[in-house]
Amino acid sequence: MGPPGAGKGTQAKRLVEAFGMAHLSSGDIFRAERASGSALGEKLAGYMDAGELVPDELVVEIMAKAVQDNDGPTGLMLDGFPRTVAQAEALDEQLASAKRPLDAVVVIRASDAVVVERITGRRSCPECGKLYHMTFMPPADDSVCDDCGVALTQREDDTEDVVRQRLAAYRQQTEPVVDYYRRRGEAELIEIDGDKAPDDVSQDITAALNNLPLGR
Ligand code: AMP
Repeated sequence: MGPPGAGKGTQAKRLVEAFGMAHLSSGDIFRAERASGSALGEKLAGYMDAGELVPDELVVEIMAKAVQDNDGPTGLMLDGFPRTVAQAEALDEQLASAKRPLDAVVVIRASDAVVVERITGRRSCPECGKLYHMTFMPPADDSVCDDCGVALTQREDDTEDVVRQRLAAYRQQTEPVVDYYRRRGEAELIEIDGDKAPDDVSQDITAALNNLPLGR
């Protein structure tokens, strides 16, 4: 969990490489649905481009299916879901009935100023999904992907106005989810300083995950 621009996507990609679990990003799943041109995708686009959260009923339906379809032996890294207390409750119910424990909740904290600077410089490769930042992690050659050679693109919701709206949604609707997990006390709550450089954040998360109590 973490505000937009905290580094969830970047860190999740690194962690699945290090730990080998499957990666489920609700934002990526919704963007793929949009790209398919379906009626559902169009509905999602309206909320996403306004920087608002997609309504819980839609999110829970789509993500419950994604979790079920990826219920393999390596475990799952959920990225961007749950984002409301209602979503967290629905996930808890699903995990309980599948007898799958939630090992840890990783919260990456980041300040508004850092987040806005990061997001407005963010670009990605439309071909392989590799993430870049035009100041902090620029591609070797102008604005094309190092691996695929295709022009990098910017997300439609990565403009400053929409980012401010997404931050407000995070503070109002997603922050309470951290307290929800703190109160439940079943999963290890790991809080990380996301203002640090990406490599330091990766190190901090990896160390915390390696220190999880045995038997979880
Ligand atoms: P992300 O890529 O995680 O920043 O998500 C991009 C956008 O997708 C968000 O600003 C929301 O509009 C929508 N979204 C992604 N995950 C969720 C979720 N769990 N609940 C509601 N909306 C979501």
